[in-house]
Amino acid sequence: MNKTVIITGGSRGIGEAIVKELAKEGHNIILNYNKSEQKAKKIQEESTKNGQHVEIFQADVSKREEVKKLVNFAISKYKNIDILINNAGISQTKLFTDITQEDWNTIINTNLTSAFHMCQEVLPNMIHNKKGCIINISSIWGTTGASCEVHYSVAKAGLDGLTKALAKEVGPSNIRVNSIAPGIIETDMNKNISRSDKNDIISEIPLGRIGSTLEIAKAVKWLIEDEYVTGQIISVNGGWNI
Ligand code: NAP
Repeated sequence: MNKTVIITGGSRGIGEAIVKELAKEGHNIILNYNKSEQKAKKIQEESTKNGQHVEIFQADVSKREEVKKLVNFAISKYKNIDILINNAGISQTKLFTDITQEDWNTIINTNLTSAFHMCQEVLPNMIHNKKGCIINISSIWGTTGASCEVHYSVAKAGLDGLTKALAKEVGPSNIRVNSIAPGIIETDMNKNISRSDKNDIISEIPLGRIGSTLEIAKAVKWLIEDEYVTGQIISVNGGWNI
């Protein structure tokens, strides 16, 4: 059956792959973007040509007022929200001692507080319907910690904590909450990593390669379909952390 899905940060990278995979399944997609308007419009145009349903909506999900507008748009368009995918995120590499208060706030607000805002705005609708599925895109660094990315690691660890605690709280309302924790995936987020640093990383990954955005999108599809999984942090990392 067609479901209504909000995907934050759906204009590029992992979010774009999730949008395309779920649109192919026939779901109604609300693609949220922040700065990449042209990319969002292009995805929408292509999907419309293929007979798929993708609406686009600009919002900086670190800001509560903009999240409210995004969720109101989705509800006014489709009445119910079945699936929320908190994917929007940014990273930054800095020595811990160089992280400014502003850096800290930006990374925490974009990667973690955004999910707090989205979940709080969407949950009344899901609780009313007694069904829902929330998927948070966290990171391997939320589990293992990354040197020179302390603020990002804290945000992703917080997201995993939100996943586990909220899964317990809303499970009785038939709402599932899970995280997907990718390892290293080929997207713009990693475009500044040098070839030799990438090769060093690959040498630590048992499957011997960087992952694709499609491989994360497939994990999302599986989590949507399997209705007995909740509160889990699903690693999709080629065995980088076992
Ligand atoms: P990406 O290619 O840089 O794309 C990031 C997406 O997030 C873009 O669509 C961007 O939208 C959106 N975004 C950023 N800030 C936003 C905001 N304030 N409000 C709304 N949207 C915002 O990154 P990616 O690799 O696909 O990352 C997607 C998620 O996977 C992130 O949460 C990231 O932490 C996580 N992750 C990635 C990797 C990896 O290796 N790539 C590994 C582990 C976890 P605009 O362009 O429209 O601004």
